[in-house]
Amino acid sequence: PSGVLIIGAGQAGVQTAEALRSGGYAGPLTVLGEEPHPPYRRPPLSKAWLCGELQAAQLLMRAPEALARKGIDLRVGVRVQAIERAQRRLRLADGSTLPYAALVLATGASPRPLALPGAPALGVLSLRGLDDATALAARLADCQRQQQPLLVIGGGFIGLEVAASARKLGVEVTVLEAAPRLLGRVLAPALSDWYADLHRHHGVQVRLGAQLAALETGPDGQVRGAWLQDGSHCPGAAVLVGIGVQANDALAQAAGLDCERGVVVDACGRSSDPHIYAAGDCTARRLPDGTLLRLESVHNATEQAKSVAASILGQERPFVATPWFWSEQYDKKLQMAGLSAGADHWVLRGTMDAGAFSLYHFRGPRLLAVDSVNATREHLQARKLLDAGLSPTPEQAADPAFDLASLLA
Ligand code: FAD
Repeated sequence: PSGVLIIGAGQAGVQTAEALRSGGYAGPLTVLGEEPHPPYRRPPLSKAWLCGELQAAQLLMRAPEALARKGIDLRVGVRVQAIERAQRRLRLADGSTLPYAALVLATGASPRPLALPGAPALGVLSLRGLDDATALAARLADCQRQQQPLLVIGGGFIGLEVAASARKLGVEVTVLEAAPRLLGRVLAPALSDWYADLHRHHGVQVRLGAQLAALETGPDGQVRGAWLQDGSHCPGAAVLVGIGVQANDALAQAAGLDCERGVVVDACGRSSDPHIYAAGDCTARRLPDGTLLRLESVHNATEQAKSVAASILGQERPFVATPWFWSEQYDKKLQMAGLSAGADHWVLRGTMDAGAFSLYHFRGPRLLAVDSVNATREHLQARKLLDAGLSPTPEQAADPAFDLASLLA
């Protein structure tokens, strides 16, 4: 067999195809996507698009014609059913097969379902794709018309971005978070508290340590609210479940590839089969110390895609870039560079009250990560420092008068 097949027409799949072409790959190149839509960007789905500030056409990542011009055969509405590794071919849902010389898994991730009595009620939604977002937008319009609240289950990025967008649309919102703070897995406690204040300031009811007991469903099958284990009740005419995602690695698992919370890949995007590569949200990357790193971000998908394309072209391009992520809520843009896990202290640059600041996370003298709110220029410099492996002293980082760019000179 010849040619490259890519499963998944999302961020990682499309980027891999383009990186292959720009890297000089001239053979057959096919991208198979299950969704009926041409490749689009997901981040605006919970932000500008949900608020009605962006048209559907503006979500488009690449026009199909632009891909066709590069000789990329995009096939949407196609579900891959199985990987037949021994024959090096894919089996599609319609029973047909497609051979490959190299296969790229870029299947993304799916929202974790809520395991709770009453959870399949009507009006209980999750948000991953454009169709989910369309359903959510319709529900928000109902909530607004009927003056009924939206319940958000999970105080992570998706839940909080939807909460902010719903408030912009004039919808009442309650956020239920089981942990004692918002965004607890990714942010320092001070920043979690700042986000809780931000949402409360915008009229969101934020309930922390909220242990759910059951969803309440009406006789019409529609969700009406949630019961908490402390006996309290929260009304809601729609529920957005944002409790994390799981990697779409079922195909890889069934084919016997090494999987652990995702398709296990090395820094070059290689799986345990020399003909199969993986990039994006479906992967778990093995780090030099043996631990696995799962990242769910556009930057990760893009960087892994470039590494995979290079690997297929016989080059080594390990993923060494500093991880980067952003989130927008109200008029606040958070940018996160590096990984703060393992940090033993942090310092603040700027003032949180002023709404523009950065947190510099250190382990000993070493800068590990920087989280910035509405401080884009400074964040870019911090990213460059991290990329270069340079660390300001904590005193320099905390002093807004100290020019961080001078360390890069
Ligand atoms: P996806 O973009 O999910 O693409 C995977 C594709 O594979 C899907 O279209 C899926 O249908 C298809 N597929 C799966 N299985 C099969 C199969 N068997 N056959 C055929 N096709 C298949 N990241 C940020 O960095 N910043 C943000 O602000 C941000 N906001 C986000 C907001 C929302 C609402 C969401 C949902 C995500 C957000 N993300 C954000 C995350 C970011 O969008 C993802 O990390 C990124 O899309 C991952 O790209 P991917 O290609 O791995 O997966």
